[in-house]
Amino acid sequence: MKRKAAFVDRDGILNELIYDEVHGILDSPRRPEQVVLMKGASEFLNGLHELGYFIAIVTNQPGIAKGTLTEQELEAVHATIAGQLRETGGGTWDALYYSPYHPKPGPWGRKDFTRDSNCRKPGPGMLMRAAEDHDLDLDRSWMIGDGLVDVQAGKAAGCRTMLVTKLKISHIERFLDMKDAEPDEIAPNLKAALERLKREGGGA
Ligand SMILES: [Mg+2]
Repeated sequence: MKRKAAFVDRDGILNELIYDEVHGILDSPRRPEQVVLMKGASEFLNGLHELGYFIAIVTNQPGIAKGTLTEQELEAVHATIAGQLRETGGGTWDALYYSPYHPKPGPWGRKDFTRDSNCRKPGPGMLMRAAEDHDLDLDRSWMIGDGLVDVQAGKAAGCRTMLVTKLKISHIERFLDMKDAEPDEIAPNLKAALERLKREGGGA
């Protein structure tokens, strides 16, 4: 029987975003020393496994296309996240997919990753690929993330979707008119997200 999956966004769910002073934006950590786990990340992953979900991390990492992040640096960041999880109560994932693409990465962009890709959220490509690789049942699966692209990718793949955000519903409602961006559930944090999945029951 196909397994149900939790597709889990990385930045803003497992690890905090970092403030990039040069560009004045929140960005993905690029070096191990920038990695700070989100509160409750270990418990969240452990809880998903206890409920029987196959956990696939699906993360856009356009820094690779932009030439601001190498594959080696990305691997080091992932190893650091895994290591910090081990040290703070466990929590692992079963598979990890990242999208290195960006349609317009700018002057330092890498041509090999400069394109529109279905494998970049909001496209469902990473989820579809994971489903094929690991025999996952998309109908019984969830996409959980802190961005509307996560919701869009999950819906496009045929999953249910959970947006984890502290923003008030009234503040995000105007964005939710966006086509295919309305989540099935909104949770203020990882603990609440897990509680919602527990209510559904481990056997679902
Ligand atoms: Mg995110």
